[in-house]
Amino acid sequence: IFEYAPAPESRDIVDIKPSYGLFVNGEWTDGKGEAFKTINPATEETLAEVACATDADVDAAVAAARAAYDKVWGPMPGRERAKYLYRIARIIQERGRELAVLESLDNGKPIRESRDVDIPLVAAHFFYYAGWADKLGYAGLGPNPRPLGVAGQVIPWNFPLLMLAWKIAPALACGNTVVLKPAETTPLTALLFAEICRQADLPPGVVNILTGAGETGAALVNHPDVNKVAFTGSTEVGRRIAESVAGTRKKLTLELGGKAANIVFDDAAIDQAVEGVVNGIFFNQGHVCCAGSRLLLQESVAEDFLARLRRRMGTLRVGDPLDKNTDVGAINSAEQLERIRALSEIGEAEGGERYTAPCELPERGFWFAPTIFTGVSQSHRIAREEIFGPVLSVLTFRTPEEAVAKANNTPYGLSAGVWTEKGSRILWMADRLRAGVVWANTFNKFDPTSPFGGYKESGYGREGGRHGLEAYLDV
Ligand code: NAD
Repeated sequence: IFEYAPAPESRDIVDIKPSYGLFVNGEWTDGKGEAFKTINPATEETLAEVACATDADVDAAVAAARAAYDKVWGPMPGRERAKYLYRIARIIQERGRELAVLESLDNGKPIRESRDVDIPLVAAHFFYYAGWADKLGYAGLGPNPRPLGVAGQVIPWNFPLLMLAWKIAPALACGNTVVLKPAETTPLTALLFAEICRQADLPPGVVNILTGAGETGAALVNHPDVNKVAFTGSTEVGRRIAESVAGTRKKLTLELGGKAANIVFDDAAIDQAVEGVVNGIFFNQGHVCCAGSRLLLQESVAEDFLARLRRRMGTLRVGDPLDKNTDVGAINSAEQLERIRALSEIGEAEGGERYTAPCELPERGFWFAPTIFTGVSQSHRIAREEIFGPVLSVLTFRTPEEAVAKANNTPYGLSAGVWTEKGSRILWMADRLRAGVVWANTFNKFDPTSPFGGYKESGYGREGGRHGLEAYLDV
């Protein structure tokens, strides 16, 4: 639509090996399963071959984590554990550019986001939980809370390294050891993190990284010597894990899907709200559990707001994730692209009116232009199901009561946004919205000091903040 000079970040600053093993007990080992490829979703080129962990590999990793827990990490004073976490945080900062490029290559997200959001937040989580490691007696759980033991952690592909940080930083701060499985489409930053653990001289076995698909994840969460299961991913898999963990003594936290409402009142600062709505749904290609995927507009401003939103969508730059000007990157996988396409077609078939941002998509790779649907009603599937892509469903309301009723009319309850100049209305809404996070006049803001997590089918337990410690401690 308009000319701009591409400013590419150099991919040469990352050294991607042709193949990767599993990280068990501080060493690299070959997986016993059949290796798989991880690709760059923006180009479809193979980045590396990655090992697949079998049940036997899971056994070995859990045994290593158990031994490290019993002999080294569990007994270590909190102030000593803190030193390792601080060291890891600093190395992440030092290697931030490398991590950001690797994340964008493997995931497809714009470098601006991985550089300015993901990686700084990863470091911030390690710094924050380092600070707690010797202060657990002040976490509000009694004077001497104890770690749980070995944590089995399974994470998704949308914020690969950030989800790892949300899981590993509090687990280690509390004195647990970890076996973590990254998602099969985005294993590379977790594997670089394993190198960072070595660089930080973290004792062997404290962190173990197993790559593989769902079977590896299932073997890990079902392992009898795992004490704590932490899962972030789809509600469907989360439900399966909850069933399989039921009847064991394992403590479980689940961070699942969402279908958040971004609610704009007629007194809101409209241009600011437009930015917030764009950020809410197009940030990270909409691959965000708390994405503002339902826009609720007060009727009196709907027309004006939509005109401005369409205009703003026309200025979004979609393309090369390593281009520093890019706003919207690649869809993470062919499978996810197919899911987004299918639900969008259903949206049209159900009578939604589709508007697609005018942009040229690259020929190779997985791409989906920013899209909004108007004329959507609450019963439409695109208003109910998580699309997990850059697709926004627009509904309208007249009164605050109607806005609350529509926002809460979903099986999910992860997040919500409210745009209004009235402080009293923000508080009134926040009290009534059934969501773990309510943002006011902003959206998709994260901070390690703040607990994050869902109501209803968005899961249970909190990650982040003091509450994030509870998942990894016993009284
Ligand atoms: P997914 O559930 O398909 O996979 C997540 C992880 O679970 C992957 O590592 C996968 O290999 C593994 N897995 C698959 N089957 C398994 C099984 N039976 N047992 C154990 N592990 C198994 O989800 P996804 O497509 O990777 O991620 C997208 C989903 O994640 C979305 O629904 C999104 O909302 C959710 N998510 C939630 C949060 C949150 O904090 N609430 C954050 C990010 C993503």
